[in-house]
Amino acid sequence: MKRSIIVGNWKMYATSIADAHILATTIRNKVAPVIGIEVVLCPPALWLPEIKNILGDNKKILLGAQNMAYEEEGAFTGEIAPSMVAEMAKFCIVGHSERRQYFDESDQDVNEKVLAALKHGITPIICVGERKRQNNAAEPTRQLAAALYHVPKKYFKDIIVAYEPIWAIGTGENAEPEYVAKVAVKLRELLHTATPILYGGSVKGSNIAGYAERPEIDGVLVGGASVRAAEFIEICRVWSNSKNFKS
Ligand code: PEP
Repeated sequence: MKRSIIVGNWKMYATSIADAHILATTIRNKVAPVIGIEVVLCPPALWLPEIKNILGDNKKILLGAQNMAYEEEGAFTGEIAPSMVAEMAKFCIVGHSERRQYFDESDQDVNEKVLAALKHGITPIICVGERKRQNNAAEPTRQLAAALYHVPKKYFKDIIVAYEPIWAIGTGENAEPEYVAKVAVKLRELLHTATPILYGGSVKGSNIAGYAERPEIDGVLVGGASVRAAEFIEICRVWSNSKNFKS
């Protein structure tokens, strides 16, 4: 059966440990019984140990970091080494458009991070997407090829790709599921048949069903709605119901 993956990118929200605790506990309690989905929570890095404790050995809800350095160690003030992430999390978002835009991350940085993540047994969630609305997959495909430079093909099933058109992130203007499916087909040409391809961009409970209906889309990366517990739980439930998973 194909995997169904729902990632919550908390960005720099849930800014107190108390808020993060409540959010993670509520999601854990309500999402654990939802059938057929894998959930990855990506809280701010400082909260990873706390949320790891809350999730315990839950097999369905796992942890991801939002970013990491590619260097092993050294004089890089403020950075988080891959080995540090690996102690806390199984996943790491790499190449999010906010990192590319506000922290000048280049395609080469993204590629180095993908290689470092795989070296440390971390599944990179590689984000790609075009800045302005287009009618073709040229830019996300180019970004993905750059991110996978020198990555041996045997690792392709150990990565996750998130197609996140920048114009859809945080704008309330989500991309049409049919269009996302077309882009996913193009991205798939560079990937393994088992590589999950997610969509991200203004996903919420009221529009998730359209993505769940498309077999080309293996899940979603949720930003703003992932820090609203009820909304995130609804996204998980609707996805599972749309797929008609049986226990
Ligand atoms: C994101 O942060 O990757 C994202 C998709 O954000 P939002 O859901 O708020 O558009």
